[in-house]
Amino acid sequence: MKNPSSEILSCPNCSNQLVSTDGCEFCGLTFQKDEGTPVLIAPNVNRHVQFTFKSDRSFISDGQLEQLLIDPPLASLSEKLPYHLDPAHVYIFNRLPKGSRVLEIGCGGGQNRKFFEDKGWSYVGVDISKERVSDWLQKYGGPNYLCDAHFLPFRDQQFDIVYCAAVFEHLACPFLAAQELYRVVKPGGYFLGNVSFLEPWHDRSYFHMTPLGVIELLTQAEFHIEHIWPGRGYSGYFALAAMGSRSTKLLKVLGKVLYLSYRMEHKFKDLIRNNKNQSFKDIANRAKVAGAIDWIALRPEK
Ligand SMILES: [Zn+2]
Repeated sequence: MKNPSSEILSCPNCSNQLVSTDGCEFCGLTFQKDEGTPVLIAPNVNRHVQFTFKSDRSFISDGQLEQLLIDPPLASLSEKLPYHLDPAHVYIFNRLPKGSRVLEIGCGGGQNRKFFEDKGWSYVGVDISKERVSDWLQKYGGPNYLCDAHFLPFRDQQFDIVYCAAVFEHLACPFLAAQELYRVVKPGGYFLGNVSFLEPWHDRSYFHMTPLGVIELLTQAEFHIEHIWPGRGYSGYFALAAMGSRSTKLLKVLGKVLYLSYRMEHKFKDLIRNNKNQSFKDIANRAKVAGAIDWIALRPEK
């Protein structure tokens, strides 16, 4: 694995351009390496979260929600997707021209790297440490850099897409991290990702988010939201069964059965009531018990 040119890097401490991953020539901070991977983390740095809360966000109407909670178009797939990647996110990725630059936050072992590089895109994967990466993921070469999502070591507007799956629940200050992601994505570029909703408390997670929580997170950072939808084929019933401490095959089957009965009950009720706006009712019912919430958001051109 080759690291990209250092022109995209900035010092996580003083925000000046970082010419070398050994240290910053402006503030003098030096960086360690973890088995060859630069650790671009500043131990004592403060950032301010820009937080303007408007009264029009104290309440979201059904009409507003209906415009955001929508199933997105999916890529037609001939290949098996890497772990976590959603066909709706691939649909967006497939519109990228060759040479586009993708940043993945929380890349684990870098299991998505081959998928992106095979399409001719330049891929940068980062994670907070290598310790969390399980053995089966080690074979993918790991992250390009180790860093903290609240203090990204990248210059402004460097990436066409930032992708971040199953990470935001692990961030102590998600509003600051969303602001950082906005900073590094180009105007017109995308922020694609998902976050835990009805999963158990896991790996020291902080904030699990409802669809409204995701809307607020993205809106606060000034992203334009295109779609929010419940994690595909991943209900809270299944997540709780599969991630529990005594998770067994039987429990997982039970999780699937519970979700199926939930769905059948709602489909039946909707059928006899013959409600208007069935598609919104349907996605709202799925979202109510989702294990995770996914999104497609855009940094406006301005
Ligand atoms: Zn510096």
